[in-house]
Amino acid sequence: MANIMSETPTYIGFEEYSEHVPAGIPSAVQQATDRFVGGRAARVAELPQWEELRQIGSDIRLHTIENMDVYLTRLEEKVTSAGGHVHWAETAEDARQIVLQIAKEHNVKTAVKSKSMATEEIGLNHALEAAGIEALETDLGEYIIQLAGTGPSHIIVPAVHLKKEEIADLFSEKLHINAPADPIELAQIARETLRYKFLAADMGISGANFLVAETGTLVMVTNEGNGRMCTTMPNLHVAVVGIDKVVPDWESLTVFLKLLARSATGQKLSSYTQFITGPRRAEGEFGPKEFHLVLLDNGRSKVLKDPVGREVFKCIRCGACANVCPVYKNVGGFAYGWFISGPIGAILSPQMLGTQTARELPYASTLCGACADVCPVKIPIPTILRHLRRRVAQGDDFSTHSMPAPIRTAAAFTSIALAWNWVYRFGARLLPVLMSIFKRGDWIPSAPYPLSRWTKARPLPPFVAGFRKWWSVRSAKGKD
Ligand code: SF4
Repeated sequence: MANIMSETPTYIGFEEYSEHVPAGIPSAVQQATDRFVGGRAARVAELPQWEELRQIGSDIRLHTIENMDVYLTRLEEKVTSAGGHVHWAETAEDARQIVLQIAKEHNVKTAVKSKSMATEEIGLNHALEAAGIEALETDLGEYIIQLAGTGPSHIIVPAVHLKKEEIADLFSEKLHINAPADPIELAQIARETLRYKFLAADMGISGANFLVAETGTLVMVTNEGNGRMCTTMPNLHVAVVGIDKVVPDWESLTVFLKLLARSATGQKLSSYTQFITGPRRAEGEFGPKEFHLVLLDNGRSKVLKDPVGREVFKCIRCGACANVCPVYKNVGGFAYGWFISGPIGAILSPQMLGTQTARELPYASTLCGACADVCPVKIPIPTILRHLRRRVAQGDDFSTHSMPAPIRTAAAFTSIALAWNWVYRFGARLLPVLMSIFKRGDWIPSAPYPLSRWTKARPLPPFVAGFRKWWSVRSAKGKD
């Protein structure tokens, strides 16, 4: 278990995971997620226009997805004119190499990191360590899982699977101290350890919650001061951000800031909302002298081609869907096998990795719809799950028809039959006659294609056109 998702950003899959599942995960996860669910409900209830806000958020995200090229071009222009450098990374390897090259040019020995899912996605820490650069996570949850040697198990609470006693044991073992199982004291220990690292770091690395195309501004929404330390204390700031994080303008951003904190932690606003536009402008100002933005594709462009699946990029990474998901609450985040877990992981990973790689994930759902009900940007998660189940069964060529030709023809005939009364009556008489050819006893054990796809696994009940008869008998009885 110790190294699950820590070494590489490769998908491990449900089956392999089930051999390692730690017994304590469900209770720790359930306690934490229940708290978030309660907090979210309370904050949402305070806002009468919540549903309207969700719809606006959804519309803006959809518009941005459909015009991503326009907004990314604008973003690049604005970041560059503010004095920053923009790099385009087509793959995870490209992104790692870009960061390593920047580090090499600046003779970087130590780097401090704020929480970033994009750097988890590309396995940046291991690439930096392999290049001899110490990369230290400074978000408390990320720091804990870095010490534990695992990946995150929740989008916003990476160490949600650990209880305070386990964290105390971990600190005691790794930091060679006697750590108490007290959250405040544990946070204090981490703070004291990390403070010196901020002061000594050559490079700060971050992700971003949003990128505002209008001004080229990187937005970070956090509850710990570490993000500000990482992005202002070292002279070099490198941000690695997925291209899907772009938003058109500041007006759009205000909508997402209202939706995000309420959905994520049940707060009206996070403790810190940080806006970074380029590096520091003049001598005497605070902030890094150089700012680099690495825009990560890593399969996102491919996902954008699927008109159903691409709605996944409406996501603002609040984690609310995981908090209400009965599957996530029972298996925890590692079961999703990649850097992102919960219902959003179940619809993102198969699209980015290919449904033949992450083929179990679209089935990791009861389709209860709780995720879609709480999603602040109205991602139709159950619809995308069903769509991906079809892709698992039929391949990733979503440009073709969803069903084979015979089934489409049968569906067309059914549609005509249901629309025209006389056709339905005629078909209702004809079908039982045709089916009697294949009937053996009460069942049809073997039928011709396309129904053979069904009878290969189980017998088919014969079509009984008895509804009208049953209805007239029932009506007659009612009249008696
Ligand atoms: S899918 Fe919706 S609920 Fe889940 S993390 Fe993304 S925005 Fe939040």
